[in-house]
Amino acid sequence: MASKELNEPYDREVPAGRVTLVGAGPGAVDLITVRGQRVLADADVVVYDDLANAALLTVCRPGIAKIHVGKRAGCHNTRQAEIGAILVREALKNQHVVRLKGGDPLVFGRGGEEGEVLAAAGIPFEIVPGVTAAVAAGAVAGIPLTHRGHASAVVFVTGHECGGKAGDAAVDWAALARTRATLCIYMGVRRLGGIAAELRAGGLADTTPVAVIANATLPNQSVQIGDLESAEALAAAVQGQPALIIVGEVVRLAEILAQAQTCLAELPA
Ligand code: SAH
Repeated sequence: MASKELNEPYDREVPAGRVTLVGAGPGAVDLITVRGQRVLADADVVVYDDLANAALLTVCRPGIAKIHVGKRAGCHNTRQAEIGAILVREALKNQHVVRLKGGDPLVFGRGGEEGEVLAAAGIPFEIVPGVTAAVAAGAVAGIPLTHRGHASAVVFVTGHECGGKAGDAAVDWAALARTRATLCIYMGVRRLGGIAAELRAGGLADTTPVAVIANATLPNQSVQIGDLESAEALAAAVQGQPALIIVGEVVRLAEILAQAQTCLAELPA
């Protein structure tokens, strides 16, 4: 792509009264996509939450409204309804609303639900993908999520199951254990002891390696490595922080690939 195209401002010819769901990436400001940054610079109003790096808002035009809807991921249904209502309300004022969300909007980001609300209200919207936490955590810890010799599949799974799912949607950890896929567990810190027990009951060895990566790509990033037996203790050390848990043989490669961490740490925060 020509660099001119990269540097051109986002096209403001498109009609106002719409919403763009933008993935902010995992934390470091320079891990948003170029498109995400351009859309943000075009916004008339931004609606953002805790996991999106607030430093990204410095690219916005001066004086625009920035609405903080400060929820961490989880089961906050009332809050979610309010967010949907805010998006609709602001778009109906004929504005370009940017909904900035941590990671990727459609990976445990409730972007799907927000899209449903917008569709029901007849408001045009689009989605800009972002680097999701699992991908970022693998990169900073030097853990390839797939590897020809160790894992042919990767699963993104929530460790924090909310009730009210239709049918039989609760996570079946024993079934996941049998796949031998790399498991990338979001929102799993509080429940990791129980999850590890279920995975062991499902057939994974106690020595199956586990990595707990907190605040990936941020200055306070931490990487801890252990196994299913020590997993609960690893999680205890990062309670209350956003952390991604990786379970699987690929975690053993972290030792070899650990220099990836050093290189990333040298990038500007
Ligand atoms: N949409 C987001 C995920 C939101 S769910 C994405 O695509 O990444 C919130 C969970 O994401 C957290 O509980 C944690 O498991 C994970 N997470 C988000 N940012 C993270 C980071 N910088 N480091 C580690 N885990 C992170």
